[in-house]
Amino acid sequence: MLDSSEVKQVALAVGFDDCGIARADALGEEEFPLDHWLSEGHHGELHYMERNAAMRRDPRLLLPGAKSVICVVSAYPPPSRGECGGIAAYARQRDYHTAIKSMLRSLQQRLGIEGKLCCDTVPISDKLWASHAGLGWIGRHSLLITPRWGTWVNLGEIVTTEQCTAYSQATAQRAAHCGSCHRCVDACPNHALDSLFDATRCTAYYTTHHPRPMPTTLNPSGYTLGCDLCQLACPHNQKYLTGDKQ
Ligand code: SF4
Ligand code: SF4
Repeated sequence: MLDSSEVKQVALAVGFDDCGIARADALGEEEFPLDHWLSEGHHGELHYMERNAAMRRDPRLLLPGAKSVICVVSAYPPPSRGECGGIAAYARQRDYHTAIKSMLRSLQQRLGIEGKLCCDTVPISDKLWASHAGLGWIGRHSLLITPRWGTWVNLGEIVTTEQCTAYSQATAQRAAHCGSCHRCVDACPNHALDSLFDATRCTAYYTTHHPRPMPTTLNPSGYTLGCDLCQLACPHNQKYLTGDKQ
């Protein structure tokens, strides 16, 4: 049995900015409308999303006997106010997959546990589990909004068969504090957020995941890798933006 407070302390000691722990049970369609998203074809050519949909919903299919999902947050420097185009802020840092995996390995070693280390490349929804672990909520732009760093964070998890002394009671909250705001929806040049996030209309999808170029009918707004426009528009992110771009 792992002491939840100790897990969080060790996570901070290895360099993460926050940590929460969710019980490893299945996320329902209400928390994670994956079936609807796939049936609408919003995943485009990301066919692996269909193949491992059940696993994304239930970490016990990823690691048999899983009891806990230890979720971690690592903040990165946000872009400048008024910035537009170029390379998205997350991609200006050292490859976050490498950095997060390395810190997860340290966390795992210091806790002395077995487990599956996850950061983007493993079939588990990082942001949904982070929200379930009480680390933030999912905005209308489909990203995790944390109370201390906004959306300017990378995420990771350790799925483990160890039980913890306490679990977050949070559900994966969607648009919990968006109210009547639609700024991210209006900021997207390609209408990718008009209903559920549509990857096939998103600049980031074409510049980071997709084997083919972006259709000329879509507008990358000057971004060559990723896109920050919907995050730049979000009121929950404004206080984190740095000075005006020169
Ligand atoms: S990242 Fe850019 S293209 Fe994708 S949804 Fe946000 S604003 Fe639209
Ligand atoms: S811009 Fe507005 S609608 Fe979009 S995630 Fe932020 S608060 Fe929600």
